[in-house]
Amino acid sequence: MECKKVLIIEDEKSIADIIQFNLNKEGFETETAYDGKTGLEKALSSKPDLILLDVMLPVIDGFQVCKKVRESSTVPIVMLTAKEEEVDKVLGLELGADDYITKPFGMRELIARIKANIRRTDLMNSLQDAPANVRVFGNLAIDLNRYEVRKDETPLELTLREFELLKYLAERENRVFSREQLLEEVWGYEYYGDIRTVDVTVRRLREKLEDDSSNPAYIMTKRGIGYYFRRP
Ligand code: CA
Repeated sequence: MECKKVLIIEDEKSIADIIQFNLNKEGFETETAYDGKTGLEKALSSKPDLILLDVMLPVIDGFQVCKKVRESSTVPIVMLTAKEEEVDKVLGLELGADDYITKPFGMRELIARIKANIRRTDLMNSLQDAPANVRVFGNLAIDLNRYEVRKDETPLELTLREFELLKYLAERENRVFSREQLLEEVWGYEYYGDIRTVDVTVRRLREKLEDDSSNPAYIMTKRGIGYYFRRP
């Protein structure tokens, strides 16, 4: 594996240092920033392969950094949240973060998450050369190999997770899945218990796919049970 660069944006220098030390030991290149403004500048100029982003930061907070980075980049973002910031996890995901990890965390867990997120991005990049495998549902064309979705010929910008959820449901048309099932099947080991993550991702997907996201034609809610994909 070529050397991957991780940008650590964390104002608690002792935490940033220990993360940096451990990532270097694992063979990652690292950069650090101790406030949101510097972090944002480095995120845009030094093109990291992944960003570790604390929520509570001086000058510009982690959410604003996340939002700004997402305007021009699909780099994986893992947010660092404090235990009591439950709500923040959901907000982070809404703003386009890929993953979050709760403080205090173990270094092995952090490194496993970082590797998993980089692996998924590498996988997605390599899939762009794969042979097409398009399935058409109404005015939606989903290329299951290349992770591309078009609506009326216009490509949609989905995050990897949004695509994985859409793919999972579309390949199993009309079957209803509970949030817990989706969390386990689509998110896998990285998540445990926070089913709101599924709702947030469904909402973001609908905003991109549906003509009217409050009256969806593809991703349907089965009240009290979960979600399913329907051919319109
Ligand atoms: Ca902080």
